[in-house]
Amino acid sequence: MRTVYVNGEYLPETEARVSIFDRGFLMADGVYEVVCVLGGKLVDFEGHMVRLDRSLSELDMTRPSARDDLLEIHRELVTRNTLDQGLIYLQVTRGNPGDRDFNFPPKETEPTVVLFTQDMPSLMDNPKAKRGARVISVPDLRWGRRDIKTVQLLYPSMAKTMAQAAGVDDAWMVEDGHVTEGTSNNAYIIKNGRIITRALSNDILHGITRAAVLRFAREAQMEVEERSFTIEEAKDADEAFVTSASAFVTPVVELDGAAIGTGMPGPIAARLREIYIDESLKVAV
Ligand code: PMP
Repeated sequence: MRTVYVNGEYLPETEARVSIFDRGFLMADGVYEVVCVLGGKLVDFEGHMVRLDRSLSELDMTRPSARDDLLEIHRELVTRNTLDQGLIYLQVTRGNPGDRDFNFPPKETEPTVVLFTQDMPSLMDNPKAKRGARVISVPDLRWGRRDIKTVQLLYPSMAKTMAQAAGVDDAWMVEDGHVTEGTSNNAYIIKNGRIITRALSNDILHGITRAAVLRFAREAQMEVEERSFTIEEAKDADEAFVTSASAFVTPVVELDGAAIGTGMPGPIAARLREIYIDESLKVAV
């Protein structure tokens, strides 16, 4: 059985409790982070904590613990759960002010903090990295502050389920004729050696993996173009891929039934995956 963390305590998962009045439960009033664990070490912990602070401050929420304490909790969960490959999920909500009320509760309301591990032994040897993912496009019907990593994941969850019903792996969301991102990842195409991905704005989550991969790509003298692209452009691309903390760089080989490039994972995505994993392992804490 897993050991999880709830509001200062390490508990067996069956004993962890959060109030039914918690605003995370009633109003999706909470933010989260997912840190990848490789070889028992945390990948880009600092980047995820910087984004957590930003999500909290955009919603006028208080940070529950100092960054060093959060690092300690992450490490303790890795140890207690003997986690080698997987992830650590962290959620902070605006807590339980008592009655249900649309207004934000008083500042002194204690936030709820929950962390747990998920064991994923085949993260590095994910078969999807070799065969490539197939995706469909769906309209992006999410709210307008997708840069804040909130727990309002109903639409991405619906989109992923639509993808599953269509017999594919994932969905790319489209707004005003352009791809925003995947249900839980950032989306990229490659054309004539150039890596093209949507620029940062409130329209997409500012992926921590995105930042690292674009940095590594530029360091390797690859050309990066941060701009929106259409579904037609994506179908006509040489390669495509997605990035996220747990998928790293995963090639995309089919979009709405059309093969991308050769229909097989391409060399640039494979190279970026390799660089990302190698470099991340070097600096994992
Ligand atoms: N976009 C969305 C909508 C996501 O949910 C995620 C993963 N949480 C990402 C992008 C990728 O972000 P990261 O690289 O920080 O995992």
